[in-house]
Amino acid sequence: MSATTFRHLFPILVDRQPEQYIYFDSAATSLKLASVIHTTQDYYQSNTSNVHRSSHKVAQHVTEQFEQARRVVQQFINAKNQREVIWTQGATDSLNLLAQCLGRSSLLDARGTEILIAATEHHSNIVPWQELARQYNLVIKVMPVDANGVLKLHDALQLISKHTAIVAIGHVSNALGNINPVQAIIQRAKAHGAISVIDGTQAVAHMPVDVVALDCDFYVFSGHKIYGPTGIGVLYGKLPLLEALPPYRLGGEMVKTVSFKQAATFQPSPLKFEAGTPNIAGVLGLAEAIKFIESNMHEIMALEQTLYLQLLQLLENIPEVTLWGDKANSISLQSFTVKGVNVYDLALLLDSHNIALRVGHHCAMPLFNELAIDGVLRVSLSCYNNEQELALFDIALRDSIATLSQQVVEPDVRHKPS
Ligand code: PMP
Repeated sequence: MSATTFRHLFPILVDRQPEQYIYFDSAATSLKLASVIHTTQDYYQSNTSNVHRSSHKVAQHVTEQFEQARRVVQQFINAKNQREVIWTQGATDSLNLLAQCLGRSSLLDARGTEILIAATEHHSNIVPWQELARQYNLVIKVMPVDANGVLKLHDALQLISKHTAIVAIGHVSNALGNINPVQAIIQRAKAHGAISVIDGTQAVAHMPVDVVALDCDFYVFSGHKIYGPTGIGVLYGKLPLLEALPPYRLGGEMVKTVSFKQAATFQPSPLKFEAGTPNIAGVLGLAEAIKFIESNMHEIMALEQTLYLQLLQLLENIPEVTLWGDKANSISLQSFTVKGVNVYDLALLLDSHNIALRVGHHCAMPLFNELAIDGVLRVSLSCYNNEQELALFDIALRDSIATLSQQVVEPDVRHKPS
């Protein structure tokens, strides 16, 4: 398989040579497929209407597409029922919905008082749970990582007990790329009657996900990390649990009846959680992105694995580089630091070589406190990257490290006694 197979499907790359633009920041947001751009544009340009409201032809057509998109997601993650797929604004919104609705539900009543979170979590899978804990007097416990940032599975499993109410963990760490052993965690949570929440934001573009096989209670992800639009995401939940949750936001379309005499009554899931006019273009675009991933998953995985091994090799050939995470069990994402070099300066220099990547704590501050480092440079590869880009990155990285290392050395040279 040629490393350039999918590149032509991404308009932002079509007219640019790798020397002009190398995008290694797909974990922040992926580039967008032509089919996604076309579908969202078509909605605004030729098919604008609301969904689930008006009865005219265009509205009926768009409503049918909108619900078809739900079935596309259902099939993508192998959910049993399309009513288990809820549209949200993204993973952050899904997790906030979940934390707040769980808090107001009776689902926590007969459970323990602890919420377990992995030390690797993105802030979106920490702060909503901290707020839930604050509101309902629950306790946050942290599943620990080793010195490389890899989950200590044995210790994590030990923490799950009859006291656990919720276990919330990322399928893949956005900061380090590690694939977490979520199946073992879910099983243990289930054995102790705890609710399992999996943040699949960094997983779904890179590996097949089957929520029935995982047997998780909830699974969330964002559209924009999987070649789709921003502002659209998914919350999957087992239907009986969704039915037991109260609504999140209140307003049009999520109600069955409204009167001034008695309290409103609500639609069943999923509409119960979808108050107001949804991100229709986002939903339609996301379905296109998912169709692309589903038809090409094996090729995407093979290509990303090849590129990832090349990335590892080039980084390991630079003696000053330290790799973080678990390179034997990772998506095509590698974070690293460089001895004697400030990674923030390095990112700036790489940007001057037209290489876009992210530096810092990657919205996972507790993890970097744990690792006692200021931040890492993160290269996240996707199906539109290629070997030529990696070769250019290799040259630019070595060049930038040499420049910055010299800057560190210079003052010593100046002050050397003659
Ligand atoms: N979880 C993980 C693992 C992520 O990588 C991100 C985005 N960086 C989020 C949650 C939040 O996603 P969003 O910003 O799309 O809501």
